[in-house]
Amino acid sequence: MEDCIFCKIVNKKINAGVVKETGNFIIIKDINPVSPVHLLLISKKHYDSLLNIDSRVDGNEIFGVIKDLANDYNVKDSGFRIVINTGEDGGQTVSHMHIHFMAGRGFGWPPG
Ligand code: AMP
Ligand code: ZN
Repeated sequence: MEDCIFCKIVNKKINAGVVKETGNFIIIKDINPVSPVHLLLISKKHYDSLLNIDSRVDGNEIFGVIKDLANDYNVKDSGFRIVINTGEDGGQTVSHMHIHFMAGRGFGWPPG
């Protein structure tokens, strides 16, 4: 998708703080972090949202990637939060499927 900012990041057309790459995902630092660790797991393929993802292909990988990040950032014991904002009510602002990985502080519930 030509005008999609996350496609540009995936295709290295613009610089981002890439921390890791896996088969189907690129992991970057969120430009506007809300916690000491705030990463985005961006699907290498453009899907407008979670609703369009091919869960048989990409869904299989994602739990392993999350566990690897929990290891890498040493937050397995302290915990972390995964968020996939979807659609308007979900607060999604970038229409390219991505997963927030947040850690390094306590998070409240329910979310705002
Ligand atoms: P969402 O609201 O779930 O769609 O999240 C979009 C996230 O992308 C926000 O947390 C933004 O701070 C983040 N973001 C937007 N543009 C960039 C960028 N160029 N590099 C890194 N993170 C970005
Ligand atoms: Zn895209």
